Amino acid sequence: MLIFPHSRINIVMELHTLIPKLYRDKKLATSIVKKIHNLAKNLDYVKIMNFCGTHEYTITYYGIRTLMPKNVELIAGPGCPVCIVPACYIDAAVKLSLEGIRVYTYGDMFRVPGSKMSLLKAKSLGGNVVIVYGFLDVLKDLEKYHKEAVFFAVGFETTQPTLATYLVRNKIPNNLKILVAYRLTPPIMRHILLNYDVDLNGVIAPGHVSSIIGSLPWIFVPNQFNIPTVVAGFEPIDVLLAVYYILKQLVNKEAKLVNEYSRVVRPCGNVLAKRLVFKCMKVVNGTWRGIGLVPRSGLSLREAFKEYDAAMEYGLELKGGIDVRPGCKCHKIIIGKAKPTDCPLFGKVCTPSTPYGPCMVSTEGTCYIWFKYGGSKVDLLRKFSKEI
Ligand code: SF4
Repeated sequence: MLIFPHSRINIVMELHTLIPKLYRDKKLATSIVKKIHNLAKNLDYVKIMNFCGTHEYTITYYGIRTLMPKNVELIAGPGCPVCIVPACYIDAAVKLSLEGIRVYTYGDMFRVPGSKMSLLKAKSLGGNVVIVYGFLDVLKDLEKYHKEAVFFAVGFETTQPTLATYLVRNKIPNNLKILVAYRLTPPIMRHILLNYDVDLNGVIAPGHVSSIIGSLPWIFVPNQFNIPTVVAGFEPIDVLLAVYYILKQLVNKEAKLVNEYSRVVRPCGNVLAKRLVFKCMKVVNGTWRGIGLVPRSGLSLREAFKEYDAAMEYGLELKGGIDVRPGCKCHKIIIGKAKPTDCPLFGKVCTPSTPYGPCMVSTEGTCYIWFKYGGSKVDLLRKFSKEI
């Protein structure tokens, strides 16, 4: 192991090695699974929504569903930030790229179908599309590219502070405009609970997002809807603990907010990051693909930053578009009303190499995760026991 003179660096290095070992420990996992089974004996049917696509990955990859008692169901939620970008935003980005304006996009957004085509297709037709891994790549490219360009800003609360930092510090070149498709997570959870008959008994709230917004924004779920809620990390033990804490509350007839991910998440989150975001952006109503308008769930640039607004600069009409293609069930999957295997196109017409709907594109999309890692029960159990 590398030895750094600074003791805090040593501690961080050791934690990086220890945390995965601890949070994938087979003995610990087995004992939590046993406790989950014991608690479940005292309960009727329990339906828990894991909000986040990365939790869905952990659950599917490690076969956690196969370890649950028969009366405990884990369902995926709306936490895939590219799956929920309305088709009209993709259509706008496609149009700009075909007009020769350089569009910077993340790799998973590149292949998501719009109404007529994806940015991938637009590029194949000569569209000016550049894939980036982060906003710094955009700035680097703009050191030598001085023509009109647009950054397709997609993501939940975790991705917003980086752009905000550069906006607030006036570090954005004049030739770059921003197509803001940022969305906020607690409002969509509230919207689902208020408007859809999903019958949830527990919610596993997203860990990454909560590292920015804090755990407190999720308190409305237990307080207003009487549903036990656990902010959880992304290792198998984190998810198993989240299920355990939810079942324990159900047995005790309680509904509280528990922060299982306290090694990363603070009650108020990252105050500096939030301050930067709200200095340049304000909360507005936002549209979600397949869901429609969700109150106070989007962000737009504040007046002082409107010079960077791509929608204003290019007169983009961000409405309409074909969000739900015939046969696709993504709009039901993201609200927990369907599973990928309920879709007749799953694995046939629609695969990761031929994605028909948005949930089959990103590594956080439920259909993609199920296609990639959702083998037979036996395979999954074997995978789980081998790795934890
Ligand atoms: Fe949509 Fe494809 Fe998933 Fe079916 S399998 S719901 S078409 S993304």
